[in-house]
Amino acid sequence: MAEVIVTAPTPRARVQAMKEYHPPLGCRDALRLDFNENTLECSPKVREALAQISAGSLTRYPEREPVEAIVAAHLSLKPKQVALTNGVDEAIHVLFEAFLDSGDELLLPVPTYTMYEVYAAATDARVVAVQAADDLEFPFDRLIAAVSPRTKIIAIANPNSPSGSAATRAQLLALAQRAPHAVLLVDEAYYHFHSETVIDLVGKVPNLIVARTFSKAYGLAGLRLGLLAGSAELMRWIRRVLSPYSVNSVALACLPPALKDTTYLDWYVGEVLAARTGFEAALDAAKVRRWPSRANFILVDIGAKHAEFVRLMRNAGVLVRDRSSDPGCDGRVRITIGTREQMRHATEALNNAMAVLRGEREAQ
Ligand code: PMP
Repeated sequence: MAEVIVTAPTPRARVQAMKEYHPPLGCRDALRLDFNENTLECSPKVREALAQISAGSLTRYPEREPVEAIVAAHLSLKPKQVALTNGVDEAIHVLFEAFLDSGDELLLPVPTYTMYEVYAAATDARVVAVQAADDLEFPFDRLIAAVSPRTKIIAIANPNSPSGSAATRAQLLALAQRAPHAVLLVDEAYYHFHSETVIDLVGKVPNLIVARTFSKAYGLAGLRLGLLAGSAELMRWIRRVLSPYSVNSVALACLPPALKDTTYLDWYVGEVLAARTGFEAALDAAKVRRWPSRANFILVDIGAKHAEFVRLMRNAGVLVRDRSSDPGCDGRVRITIGTREQMRHATEALNNAMAVLRGEREAQ
């Protein structure tokens, strides 16, 4: 028999050109100030719901519509305006799949959330990145100027990561009006720490889509729960691309109690905001440059020794995230804010690390 030469199938050229993205998730048994998650635990009401999940219920495919209706009511929206997703990451993926075609442009301020560029790279669209100035404030004027007839999606994380800065409602509205031919995605992953939203404009501003996650304040990052909210017309296209089963039944069972337990949510957010104020003061006392933050993290400037800083913090049991490779972020590190008690430990580690970097103390 003639020898068959088998070559592995190759994906689309676009996919071959993509960089691998591996978030540094290994060995995280420490104080987790690296991924902006809830640093403690979810609501006890969610734990009760988890305990009630029967083995039999897992044999069924998940039914998302009843839970979508509950979430929509919670947000004062109509069920047709809301789609639950497997985290906001799936929401971004599905939105880009649905709207970005060859010749289209995705407009982004940078630095911003990494996954926008990752998912855009899998499409045939072009990324138009608008660099923020050194203050890392929302580059509104330059974004408005960068809108073109090819702009198809404008993605704004509000508040933004890793900077912590925010766009105003008036700026977001102006962008939506400047680009009526494009979807304006306002990613409100950190909404609870900022308390400003444009979700009330869903359905009123026809090209607006808002994303929310349950990974941050709610403490459910492991369950993978997010949502998109937009006009019923836009959401119809999203649903065409979205898997009907991408949100699993365990996550669906946990969502209503998570929404209902506002006592827990208010407590956790209050704790983080108080801890943020304290940590800002600690950074100022340590003479570490920081950027003002509207979220549950703070970006700090460590300078040339950023990698050593991250290492020293890890050795002290505190994980922080090096953002040096983000555009315009050389030497900068992002530190998630946890509870006041956790941030006291982080402050001690920070002061020791800075003393070592400044040559005032030997590493222990
Ligand atoms: N958007 C922003 C701005 C984020 O920072 C993150 C998480 N780091 C996400 C979305 C992803 O959230 P999820 O866990 O729901 O996928």
